Amino acid sequence: MIVMKFGGSSVANAERIRYVAQIVGPELKRKPVLVLSAMGDTTDHLLEAAEEVLKAGKRPVSIDKIADLHIKTIQELKLSVQEEIRPLLEELQNLLTGISLIKELTSKTRDYLVSFGERLSIRITAAYFNSIGIKAQALDAWDAGFLSDSQFSAAWLSKESWNLIPGKLKPLIEEGILPVVTGFIAKDGNGAITTLGRGGSDLTATVIAAACRAEEVQVWKDVDGILTADPRLVPDARPLEAITYEEAAELAYFGAQVLHPRAMQPCAKTGTPVLVKNSYNPEAPGTRIVASLEQRTGPVHAITSRQNVILVDIVSTRMVGQYGFLAEVFSNFAKHCISVDMVASSEVSISLTIDAANTLKALQEDLSRIASITIKTGKAIVTIIGDVRRSSEILQRAFGVCAALDIQVQMISQGASKVNISFIVDDTQAAEVVKKLHKAFFC
Ligand code: ASP
Ligand code: MG
Repeated sequence: MIVMKFGGSSVANAERIRYVAQIVGPELKRKPVLVLSAMGDTTDHLLEAAEEVLKAGKRPVSIDKIADLHIKTIQELKLSVQEEIRPLLEELQNLLTGISLIKELTSKTRDYLVSFGERLSIRITAAYFNSIGIKAQALDAWDAGFLSDSQFSAAWLSKESWNLIPGKLKPLIEEGILPVVTGFIAKDGNGAITTLGRGGSDLTATVIAAACRAEEVQVWKDVDGILTADPRLVPDARPLEAITYEEAAELAYFGAQVLHPRAMQPCAKTGTPVLVKNSYNPEAPGTRIVASLEQRTGPVHAITSRQNVILVDIVSTRMVGQYGFLAEVFSNFAKHCISVDMVASSEVSISLTIDAANTLKALQEDLSRIASITIKTGKAIVTIIGDVRRSSEILQRAFGVCAALDIQVQMISQGASKVNISFIVDDTQAAEVVKKLHKAFFC
């Protein structure tokens, strides 16, 4: 079997859904399981609808934008799924009315709210497959074995899911049915809907593939695979033929919006190959993600950047020759639930980076008791994914680029993962640095 995941833009309207069927058709003999995102920008529209009712508090609430897209798609595809779709739209309308009344959107309610996107898209797409004679069944993630913890908006799947998922999906596949599963969502042990984080459908797909020991996962997007840089910054960025799980994970984590940062974990465990393809250009070969690669061209494989990073400088003479100081520092980050990304340290100071957090003030107060703290906002992490065995060559050229731009690098860290060299510059400088680095390494 294989898993085929289609992102929001791949199922954005009736025409795109027809196109998905054309892509899936020739693969039917490989027994696919489909994983779908919400249609187009529906997830964003759901969140905007909630913001609107919270701000304006006006009733009756309007779900027109969301309802129109789905109803129009059903009509264009000439489907008779109104009986399945209408109750969901009504439930959504009621939920938004509830939010407008209590004037509050908890992360639990937000997960329930955004779940409607995927629940609508699978029903419409499965109905379309059935209408063209391909037996398909829409499955909400919880009916496909997705059980999670209760960390709303960033849930982790429970261990049981690994057995539950093949238990639910394999019998359908054996019967010749095409399962069409909601990406992104799950349910916790109390039956509350959770989500796996934005872009979480990638993770749904790789979990199914790993749990069912699939031959391959195909992740269908709207770009020609994983690119050497963000095409919005670097117009001549080009698709990579192949990349390792580790590199793909680092890229996702450090700002490339190609894949969910945790999506590589399941397939890295089982060695299941992941193929990233473009549903708008299926002839393009796409990018293969595999465990290891022998032949590589050049020392650098991709360059990415992440904006809005905060740099924390911690200086203390107590560090000299002491033990336990770092542990004390990091326990404060844990206490305030702030995740640390890059770290560099000397004998008397530690520099580290974090994302914006609303507990920052409290953290600063706590840390000030043990060291002198400087917080600098408006920073960016520039990450070079490459062969760290050639780090001196990479660093020489990268710093040459920065020096030529008269940009001072503010912190550097070479990931122990041996694939990532990252450094900090000002937010306003990141785009230029990425552009020039790309030119230096790829042109
Ligand atoms: N629809 C969700 C999102 O936009 C999940 C996904 O697309 O993977 O984040
Ligand atoms: Mg999406």
